[in-house]
Amino acid sequence: MIVCQFVPGGELVQLFDMHCDTLSVCYRSGASLCSNEQHIDLRRGRRYTPWCQVFAAFIPDTLRGRAAYRYCCRLLSFAREEEKRFPQQLSFVIDRAGLESAVRTGRCAGILAVEGGAALAGKCKHIAALAVRGVRVMTLTWNGDNELGHGCLSSNREGLTEFGRQAVREMHRVGIVPDVSHLNEAGFWDVATLSDAPFIASHSLSKAVCDHPRNLTDAQFKELRRRGGLVGVNLYPEHLGAPDFEAVYRHIAHYLSLDGEFTVAFGGDLDGTQLPDGWDGIAVFEDLAEYLLKKGLSEALLSRIFFKNAFDFFSATLQFDENRV
Ligand SMILES: [Zn+2]
Repeated sequence: MIVCQFVPGGELVQLFDMHCDTLSVCYRSGASLCSNEQHIDLRRGRRYTPWCQVFAAFIPDTLRGRAAYRYCCRLLSFAREEEKRFPQQLSFVIDRAGLESAVRTGRCAGILAVEGGAALAGKCKHIAALAVRGVRVMTLTWNGDNELGHGCLSSNREGLTEFGRQAVREMHRVGIVPDVSHLNEAGFWDVATLSDAPFIASHSLSKAVCDHPRNLTDAQFKELRRRGGLVGVNLYPEHLGAPDFEAVYRHIAHYLSLDGEFTVAFGGDLDGTQLPDGWDGIAVFEDLAEYLLKKGLSEALLSRIFFKNAFDFFSATLQFDENRV
């Protein structure tokens, strides 16, 4: 049993961050996950105990077909090589036992995600193959169109394609959580009606607070809440509406006003965005927790948002059943 706590003074000690692009950035630049010049590395992440981090393999909208699948596999191989190089610092977890073990031994509990269903190259069999490689979260689209559906910046307003529907069912079957961040609204509602299983928006803010195509409507947030899913607050200045902590607070406060106490988490999008001046990479969560505490959010609530909501969700959903893949 993990007790959530903040040390006196409001310092954040536990973090579960549902989205970063660090893996992809390090792969492209040849940098290491352990120590780099990006927003996140294993050295700086150790300030949080426990620290659970979803690492996304980002598939750009310029890659399609076999090239996309191969690129995704190379990113996942890079992740595993880094895990082998730094076994004391990082463990990619595929089930609840792995998550708890990483937390207990003070290692970063990494969860592998794919950002962009283009990685499937239109082939359903690739979903099980990616599950075997450890992928546990998949963002169905990025901003444009792919074989599964249409992103929030596409001019196509239709929902999921037939392949997209098939893919979501297969993800649920093999234990990959569908992630609707970036997806257009019609696609969102298709995911919602396809299955009763929970799904997440790993890094999405509120449209009621900042009217941006990437942000979620209140109806979408409520559906995710009703389904036992999660919504990760991101730190992307354009989605926030202003480059300051007050804007982050406004989005969180709005989600909480929609009874989101058990639904809101963080998906910072670090290394996927340019952070405002003074926001010091992964250390920003510590400063943010202090700010939110001063704004009147209780320690118990903050421990839910920064850690416990996502930890409980992934404890319940992370699974690897070899009979299913
Ligand atoms: Zn993203």
